[in-house]
Amino acid sequence: MIIAVDGPAASGKGTIARALARHYGLPNMDTGLLYRAVAATVRHMALDPTIEADAVAACDFDEELLADPTLRDDETGQMASIVSAHPLVRASLLQRQRRFAAQPGGAVLDGRDIGTVIAPDADAKLFVRATPQIRARRRHAELQANGSVLSFDKVLADIRARDLRDSGRASAPLVQAVDAATLDTSFLSIEASIQRAIEIVTEQTGQKFVTG
Ligand code: C5P
Repeated sequence: MIIAVDGPAASGKGTIARALARHYGLPNMDTGLLYRAVAATVRHMALDPTIEADAVAACDFDEELLADPTLRDDETGQMASIVSAHPLVRASLLQRQRRFAAQPGGAVLDGRDIGTVIAPDADAKLFVRATPQIRARRRHAELQANGSVLSFDKVLADIRARDLRDSGRASAPLVQAVDAATLDTSFLSIEASIQRAIEIVTEQTGQKFVTG
């Protein structure tokens, strides 16, 4: 079974994708990490993220980088949304994601274009959303817990900027697949969001993939 989980920054899609992977015993790929690794490599090599050829040169990043916790910081996320707008960067990362989705038994992938581009034939598709204010509040709390001093207003402005870039780009923009179910987590706890996600997958796949 292939499950596609898409949505904007800090919507809760990563948490939901990990929980679905655990529930169904499937491997999970956080595809945002690939773009974050490209961004970190661009920075490391002192390249220009706005120049497509520079960003493409960074696509051949070191595998170990994917485990680096600094990939998850806000600055890397912003730069990831710049490099990810280049069509050749997306093309360079496409096969790797498709191969992961096509492995025997299936997989859960989360990102921006899983249901539309990477796995348009996925068995289940979720589009996770939450209001920008609520996403900023969650991200701000998470950053504070990690010792960051970024203000709430700055976090909200960053989220809005990333939304605009991700939705406005010409190549694989952030859009909901027509056959994806919406899961709005704005007023749901993590547990309730996960429960609803499992219900959606069951609704979309029938009784084909029932677990223990
Ligand atoms: O999901 P995450 O916030 O880690 O993603 C970082 C950036 O990578 C996003 O803002 C987006 O621009 C890009 N991305 C993408 N396509 C994906 C996953 C992430 O363009 N499938």
